[in-house]
Amino acid sequence: MELYKRVEASTQLPWYYIAAFDQYERSVRLARNDLPDPSGTLSIMIPPDKWSGLANPNQHDSNPLSISFFEGMGMDGDQDGKADITNEYDQLAAITQYIMSYGADTDNFKIGVWEYYNRDRAVSIIMSNANLFRKHQTIDLQKKVFPLPLGSHYTYNSTWGVARGWGGRRTHEGTDIFAGYGVPVRSTCYGIIELKGWNKFGGWRIGIRDINNTYHYFAHLNGFAKDVKVGQLVEPGTLLGSVGSSGYGPPGTAGKFPPHLHYGMYKENGRTEWSFDPYPYLRLWERNERASMRR
Ligand SMILES: [Zn+2]
Repeated sequence: MELYKRVEASTQLPWYYIAAFDQYERSVRLARNDLPDPSGTLSIMIPPDKWSGLANPNQHDSNPLSISFFEGMGMDGDQDGKADITNEYDQLAAITQYIMSYGADTDNFKIGVWEYYNRDRAVSIIMSNANLFRKHQTIDLQKKVFPLPLGSHYTYNSTWGVARGWGGRRTHEGTDIFAGYGVPVRSTCYGIIELKGWNKFGGWRIGIRDINNTYHYFAHLNGFAKDVKVGQLVEPGTLLGSVGSSGYGPPGTAGKFPPHLHYGMYKENGRTEWSFDPYPYLRLWERNERASMRR
Protein backbone atom coordinates (compact mmCIF):
# COMPACT_ATOMS: atom_id res chain seq x y z
CA MET A 1 0.00 0.00 0.00
CA GLU A 2 2.83 2.39 0.94
CA LEU A 3 4.59 1.58 -2.31
CA TYR A 4 1.47 2.41 -4.33
CA LYS A 5 0.90 5.63 -2.41
CA ARG A 6 4.47 6.72 -3.05
CA VAL A 7 3.89 6.32 -6.78
CA GLU A 8 0.68 8.33 -6.54
CA ALA A 9 2.49 11.14 -4.75
CA SER A 10 5.14 11.45 -7.44
CA THR A 11 3.05 10.79 -10.57
CA GLN A 12 -0.64 11.59 -9.85
CA LEU A 13 -1.45 8.03 -10.93
CA PRO A 14 -4.16 6.89 -8.47
CA TRP A 15 -2.69 4.28 -6.09
CA TYR A 16 -5.58 1.86 -6.64
CA TYR A 17 -4.77 1.46 -10.35
CA ILE A 18 -1.31 0.08 -9.68
CA ALA A 19 -2.65 -1.89 -6.71
CA ALA A 20 -5.35 -3.40 -8.96
CA PHE A 21 -2.82 -4.33 -11.65
CA ASP A 22 -0.56 -5.85 -9.03
CA GLN A 23 -3.43 -7.76 -7.41
CA TYR A 24 -4.40 -9.29 -10.76
CA GLU A 25 -0.82 -10.42 -11.37
CA ARG A 26 -0.68 -11.90 -7.88
CA SER A 27 -3.88 -13.93 -8.37
CA VAL A 28 -2.75 -15.21 -11.78
CA ARG A 29 0.66 -16.24 -10.48
CA LEU A 30 -0.79 -17.99 -7.46
CA ALA A 31 -3.16 -19.92 -9.72
CA ARG A 32 -0.55 -21.07 -12.21
CA ASN A 33 2.08 -23.75 -11.80
CA ASP A 34 4.33 -22.51 -14.57
CA LEU A 35 4.97 -19.15 -12.90
CA PRO A 36 6.84 -18.58 -9.64
CA ASP A 37 4.69 -17.50 -6.70
CA PRO A 38 5.01 -13.84 -5.80
CA SER A 39 7.66 -13.28 -3.13
CA GLY A 40 8.10 -9.53 -2.67
CA THR A 41 5.55 -6.82 -1.94
CA LEU A 42 5.09 -6.34 -5.67
CA SER A 43 3.70 -9.19 -7.79
CA ILE A 44 3.82 -7.67 -11.24
CA MET A 45 6.06 -9.85 -13.39
CA ILE A 46 6.92 -8.18 -16.66
CA PRO A 47 7.77 -10.69 -19.43
CA PRO A 48 11.41 -10.37 -20.68
CA ASP A 49 10.35 -9.42 -24.23
CA LYS A 50 8.22 -6.57 -22.90
CA TRP A 51 11.03 -5.50 -20.57
CA SER A 52 13.90 -5.55 -23.07
CA GLY A 53 11.87 -4.71 -26.16
CA LEU A 54 10.61 -7.18 -28.76
CA ALA A 55 13.37 -6.53 -31.30
CA ASN A 56 16.16 -6.36 -28.71
CA PRO A 57 18.73 -9.09 -29.49
CA ASN A 58 19.53 -9.18 -25.76
CA GLN A 59 16.35 -10.46 -24.10
CA HIS A 60 18.03 -10.15 -20.69
CA ASP A 61 18.97 -6.53 -21.18
CA SER A 62 19.46 -4.35 -18.10
CA ASN A 63 20.95 -1.33 -19.85
CA PRO A 64 18.37 1.49 -19.69
CA LEU A 65 19.72 3.07 -22.88
CA SER A 66 19.52 0.04 -25.13
CA ILE A 67 16.19 -0.98 -23.58
CA SER A 68 14.73 2.41 -24.40
CA PHE A 69 16.26 2.21 -27.89
CA PHE A 70 14.36 -1.02 -28.50
CA GLU A 71 11.24 0.47 -26.90
CA GLY A 72 11.24 -1.96 -23.98
CA MET A 73 9.40 -1.20 -20.75
CA GLY A 74 12.44 -1.65 -18.50
CA MET A 75 13.27 1.30 -16.24
CA ASP A 76 15.90 2.17 -13.67
CA GLY A 77 13.66 2.99 -10.70
CA ASP A 78 16.25 2.98 -7.92
CA GLN A 79 18.84 4.88 -9.97
CA ASP A 80 21.63 2.34 -9.73
CA GLY A 81 22.27 2.64 -13.46
CA LYS A 82 20.56 -0.68 -14.24
CA ALA A 83 17.07 -1.61 -15.34
CA ASP A 84 16.87 -4.86 -13.39
CA ILE A 85 13.81 -7.00 -14.22
CA THR A 86 13.96 -8.59 -10.75
CA ASN A 87 14.22 -5.30 -8.84
CA GLU A 88 10.98 -4.09 -7.26
CA TYR A 89 11.68 -0.39 -7.74
CA ASP A 90 12.64 -0.92 -11.36
CA GLN A 91 9.51 -3.00 -11.96
CA LEU A 92 7.33 -0.38 -10.32
CA ALA A 93 8.91 2.42 -12.31
CA ALA A 94 8.42 0.42 -15.50
CA ILE A 95 4.76 -0.35 -14.91
CA THR A 96 4.04 3.22 -13.79
CA GLN A 97 5.77 4.65 -16.85
CA TYR A 98 3.84 2.22 -19.02
CA ILE A 99 0.46 3.24 -17.58
CA MET A 100 1.34 6.94 -17.63
CA SER A 101 2.22 6.69 -21.33
CA TYR A 102 -1.49 6.05 -21.91
CA GLY A 103 -2.79 8.44 -19.27
CA ALA A 104 -3.84 8.36 -15.62
CA ASP A 105 -7.61 8.65 -16.24
CA THR A 106 -9.95 5.64 -16.29
CA ASP A 107 -10.44 5.33 -20.04
CA ASN A 108 -6.76 5.51 -20.87
CA PHE A 109 -5.86 3.18 -18.03
CA LYS A 110 -8.28 0.64 -19.51
CA ILE A 111 -6.66 0.98 -22.92
CA GLY A 112 -3.21 0.52 -21.39
CA VAL A 113 -4.32 -2.63 -19.57
CA TRP A 114 -5.91 -4.00 -22.71
CA GLU A 115 -2.76 -3.37 -24.75
CA TYR A 116 -0.73 -5.14 -22.07
CA TYR A 117 -2.82 -8.33 -21.86
CA ASN A 118 -4.88 -8.23 -25.09
CA ARG A 119 -7.68 -9.68 -23.03
CA ASP A 120 -11.04 -8.09 -22.12
CA ARG A 121 -11.33 -10.26 -19.05
CA ALA A 122 -8.08 -8.93 -17.60
CA VAL A 123 -9.39 -5.39 -18.07
CA SER A 124 -12.69 -6.08 -16.31
CA ILE A 125 -11.02 -7.92 -13.42
CA ILE A 126 -8.45 -5.16 -12.91
CA MET A 127 -11.13 -2.45 -13.05
CA SER A 128 -13.19 -4.32 -10.43
CA ASN A 129 -10.13 -4.55 -8.20
CA ALA A 130 -9.50 -0.83 -8.65
CA ASN A 131 -13.11 0.04 -7.80
CA LEU A 132 -13.03 -2.11 -4.67
CA PHE A 133 -9.72 -0.63 -3.51
CA ARG A 134 -10.95 2.89 -4.17
CA LYS A 135 -14.26 2.33 -2.40
CA HIS A 136 -12.75 0.82 0.73
CA GLN A 137 -9.48 2.80 0.66
CA THR A 138 -7.51 -0.31 1.58
CA ILE A 139 -6.03 -3.37 -0.12
CA ASP A 140 -6.91 -5.57 2.85
CA LEU A 141 -10.14 -7.07 1.50
CA GLN A 142 -9.65 -10.73 2.39
CA LYS A 143 -12.38 -11.02 5.03
CA LYS A 144 -14.94 -13.77 4.39
CA VAL A 145 -18.19 -14.82 6.04
CA PHE A 146 -20.43 -17.88 5.84
CA PRO A 147 -23.14 -17.43 3.15
CA LEU A 148 -26.03 -17.97 5.60
CA PRO A 149 -26.45 -16.17 8.93
CA LEU A 150 -24.82 -18.36 11.57
CA GLY A 151 -27.91 -18.09 13.73
CA SER A 152 -30.11 -19.78 11.11
CA HIS A 153 -30.76 -23.51 10.85
CA TYR A 154 -28.73 -25.19 8.15
CA THR A 155 -26.77 -28.36 7.44
CA TYR A 156 -24.12 -29.21 4.91
CA ASN A 157 -21.66 -31.93 4.01
CA SER A 158 -18.83 -32.32 1.58
CA THR A 159 -20.58 -33.24 -1.68
CA TRP A 160 -18.28 -31.66 -4.23
CA GLY A 161 -17.46 -33.91 -7.19
CA VAL A 162 -20.25 -36.46 -6.68
CA ALA A 163 -22.40 -37.42 -9.68
CA ARG A 164 -25.55 -35.46 -10.49
CA GLY A 165 -28.53 -37.02 -12.23
CA TRP A 166 -30.53 -34.16 -13.69
CA GLY A 167 -29.50 -32.75 -17.08
CA GLY A 168 -27.19 -35.55 -18.19
CA ARG A 169 -23.84 -36.71 -16.85
CA ARG A 170 -22.17 -34.03 -14.79
CA THR A 171 -20.46 -33.79 -11.44
CA HIS A 172 -21.42 -31.61 -8.53
CA GLU A 173 -19.42 -28.38 -8.65
CA GLY A 174 -20.19 -27.09 -5.19
CA THR A 175 -21.45 -27.63 -1.68
CA ASP A 176 -25.18 -27.83 -0.90
CA ILE A 177 -26.22 -26.00 2.25
CA PHE A 178 -29.70 -27.14 3.25
CA ALA A 179 -31.94 -24.59 4.98
CA GLY A 180 -35.55 -23.47 4.94
CA TYR A 181 -37.14 -21.27 2.29
CA GLY A 182 -36.39 -17.60 2.81
CA VAL A 183 -33.24 -17.91 4.93
CA PRO A 184 -31.06 -14.95 3.89
CA VAL A 185 -28.16 -15.59 1.51
CA ARG A 186 -25.24 -13.19 1.89
CA SER A 187 -22.11 -12.38 -0.01
CA THR A 188 -19.16 -14.29 1.42
CA CYS A 189 -16.52 -11.84 0.21
CA TYR A 190 -15.54 -8.42 -1.08
CA GLY A 191 -16.19 -8.49 -4.79
CA ILE A 192 -18.33 -7.51 -7.73
CA ILE A 193 -21.57 -9.10 -8.93
CA GLU A 194 -20.71 -10.52 -12.31
CA LEU A 195 -23.85 -12.49 -13.02
CA LYS A 196 -27.49 -12.51 -12.00
CA GLY A 197 -30.41 -14.34 -13.56
CA TRP A 198 -31.86 -17.72 -14.49
CA ASN A 199 -30.11 -20.87 -15.60
CA LYS A 200 -31.92 -24.21 -16.14
CA PHE A 201 -29.58 -25.99 -13.71
CA GLY A 202 -28.99 -23.30 -11.10
CA GLY A 203 -32.36 -21.54 -11.18
CA TRP A 204 -32.10 -17.99 -9.88
CA ARG A 205 -28.43 -17.46 -9.26
CA ILE A 206 -25.76 -14.88 -8.60
CA GLY A 207 -22.03 -14.92 -9.35
CA ILE A 208 -19.49 -12.78 -7.54
CA ARG A 209 -15.81 -12.34 -8.40
CA ASP A 210 -13.64 -11.53 -5.42
CA ILE A 211 -10.40 -9.64 -5.09
CA ASN A 212 -8.33 -12.82 -5.59
CA ASN A 213 -10.08 -13.52 -8.87
CA THR A 214 -12.04 -16.37 -7.28
CA TYR A 215 -15.59 -16.71 -8.54
CA HIS A 216 -18.33 -17.45 -5.99
CA TYR A 217 -21.56 -18.95 -7.30
CA PHE A 218 -24.88 -18.92 -5.39
CA ALA A 219 -27.70 -20.99 -6.92
CA HIS A 220 -31.31 -22.18 -6.44
CA LEU A 221 -32.28 -18.86 -4.82
CA ASN A 222 -35.89 -18.16 -3.96
CA GLY A 223 -35.40 -14.62 -5.23
CA PHE A 224 -33.01 -11.70 -5.18
CA ALA A 225 -32.59 -8.95 -2.62
CA LYS A 226 -33.90 -5.57 -3.68
CA ASP A 227 -31.43 -3.46 -5.71
CA VAL A 228 -28.97 -6.33 -6.29
CA LYS A 229 -27.57 -5.83 -9.76
CA VAL A 230 -24.74 -6.85 -12.05
CA GLY A 231 -21.72 -4.60 -11.57
CA GLN A 232 -22.55 -3.89 -7.93
CA LEU A 233 -19.71 -3.96 -5.41
CA VAL A 234 -20.45 -6.17 -2.43
CA GLU A 235 -18.80 -6.97 0.87
CA PRO A 236 -18.96 -9.89 3.28
CA GLY A 237 -22.54 -9.99 4.55
CA THR A 238 -24.21 -8.02 1.73
CA LEU A 239 -27.71 -9.49 1.30
CA LEU A 240 -28.09 -11.19 -2.10
CA GLY A 241 -31.37 -13.09 -1.81
CA SER A 242 -32.77 -16.07 0.04
CA VAL A 243 -32.65 -19.85 0.03
CA GLY A 244 -35.02 -21.56 -2.37
CA SER A 245 -35.43 -24.55 -4.67
CA SER A 246 -35.43 -22.90 -8.08
CA GLY A 247 -33.94 -24.64 -11.10
CA TYR A 248 -34.05 -27.90 -13.07
CA GLY A 249 -36.31 -26.45 -15.75
CA PRO A 250 -37.48 -23.31 -17.53
CA PRO A 251 -37.54 -19.96 -15.69
CA GLY A 252 -39.67 -20.12 -12.57
CA THR A 253 -39.35 -23.87 -12.01
CA ALA A 254 -39.07 -24.67 -8.31
CA GLY A 255 -39.70 -27.44 -5.81
CA LYS A 256 -37.97 -30.26 -7.69
CA PHE A 257 -35.69 -30.82 -4.70
CA PRO A 258 -35.53 -29.66 -1.06
CA PRO A 259 -34.61 -25.98 -0.60
CA HIS A 260 -30.87 -25.37 -0.31
CA LEU A 261 -28.14 -23.00 -1.33
CA HIS A 262 -25.78 -24.42 -3.89
CA TYR A 263 -22.43 -22.73 -3.30
CA GLY A 264 -19.68 -23.09 -5.88
CA MET A 265 -16.13 -21.73 -6.13
CA TYR A 266 -14.08 -21.33 -9.29
CA LYS A 267 -10.50 -20.30 -9.90
CA GLU A 268 -9.21 -18.51 -12.97
CA ASN A 269 -5.57 -18.29 -14.04
CA GLY A 270 -5.66 -16.00 -17.05
CA ARG A 271 -6.30 -18.94 -19.38
CA THR A 272 -8.94 -21.27 -18.00
CA GLU A 273 -11.41 -21.54 -15.14
CA TRP A 274 -12.00 -24.57 -12.94
CA SER A 275 -14.18 -25.59 -10.02
CA PHE A 276 -12.69 -26.48 -6.64
CA ASP A 277 -14.16 -27.76 -3.41
CA PRO A 278 -15.70 -24.97 -1.30
CA TYR A 279 -16.34 -27.25 1.69
CA PRO A 280 -13.08 -26.63 3.62
CA TYR A 281 -13.46 -22.87 3.06
CA LEU A 282 -17.06 -22.87 4.28
CA ARG A 283 -15.96 -24.66 7.44
CA LEU A 284 -13.13 -22.17 7.93
CA TRP A 285 -15.32 -19.08 7.40
CA GLU A 286 -17.96 -20.49 9.71
CA ARG A 287 -15.34 -21.11 12.41
CA ASN A 288 -13.72 -17.67 12.00
CA GLU A 289 -17.05 -15.88 12.06
CA ARG A 290 -18.07 -17.76 15.21
CA ALA A 291 -14.79 -16.82 16.84
CA SER A 292 -15.14 -13.15 15.88
CA MET A 293 -18.69 -13.06 17.30
CA ARG A 294 -17.40 -14.31 20.65
CA ARG A 295 -14.78 -11.57 20.88
ZN1 LIG B 1 -25.55 -28.24 -5.45
